[in-house]
Amino acid sequence: MTDHSRVKQKPVEQLSRVVATRRETNDTKTLRLRPEIPFAWLPGQFITVRAIIDNKRVTRAYSISSSPTKREWLEITVRQTATPTMSKYLNEIPEGSELIIKGPYGRFIWSEEVSDKVVLLGAGSGITPLKTIVEYILDKQLRVKINLLYSCPRLDNVIFYDILKKWSESASNFEFNLFLTQEKHVNSENAFSGRINRERLGKLISDYEEAPIYICGMPGFVESMQEMLSDLGINPRLVRREKWSG
Ligand SMILES: Cc1cc2nc3c(=O)[nH]c(=O)nc-3n(C[C@H](O)[C@H](O)[C@H](O)COP(=O)(O)OP(=O)(O)OC[C@H]3O[C@@H](n4cnc5c(N)ncnc54)[C@H](O)[C@@H]3O)c2cc1C
Repeated sequence: MTDHSRVKQKPVEQLSRVVATRRETNDTKTLRLRPEIPFAWLPGQFITVRAIIDNKRVTRAYSISSSPTKREWLEITVRQTATPTMSKYLNEIPEGSELIIKGPYGRFIWSEEVSDKVVLLGAGSGITPLKTIVEYILDKQLRVKINLLYSCPRLDNVIFYDILKKWSESASNFEFNLFLTQEKHVNSENAFSGRINRERLGKLISDYEEAPIYICGMPGFVESMQEMLSDLGINPRLVRREKWSG
């Protein structure tokens, strides 16, 4: 069988059925999509989704949140924003519906040629491409050391909490550090109260010298992480970022 995860593919526009949905948090849902023409993608890439909403054509980008090792379908995970258009539509879409998707897109990609260590920095819904990278490495049992630092306001906002926790307990090469910015007391190892700051970041990634660093989230988060990494003397060539803005 072809290893689809290693193939770069041109974006294809096509119909895709929503075969299942799963609630992740109170404002976030995962949609499992089965495209008419299965296609290959690389961990970290995204698709666009097009729909007619209130008589207007709306197109938005969503990172693929499942690993390309799962070949028959792909998943996207959508957080409904405060003033939503597409994100509300996708949070309410019934199973069995069809969506027009196009992809894969993007150069925020990790592949086994890249490195044997990787640092992933995410906030909020910015976890989606990072979860795919972790899942891909674990599914393929690659000898790659992963350190994920994930920031959310509270525990009930953490997307993929159960699976990330389970992986961190079962895979010795996966370190999961959770930052809860609005929780005053955090009683768990590898979970911190407050934001990712320069001191914590420097300490947690000290074993990851020369590892590429992938940052994903809203612009404020991405910019502040970049600033801290620069203060820590990290070579900017190691840093890859995916900035989301509406
Ligand atoms: C490459 C890429 C990948 C993306 N992947 C994902 C993904 O996996 N999951 C996901 O939920 N979103 C993702 N986004 C964001 C997504 O494309 C939309 O911007 C988001 O769903 C809001 O669209 P909307 O039509 O509901 O709101 P809009 O009508 O476009 O805007 C509503 C408001 O929400 C703000 N906003 C936009 N995105 C967010 C956000 N993520 N959190 C908080 N506020 C926001 C905007 O600044 C705007 O003020 C991605 C964006 C890019 C560029």
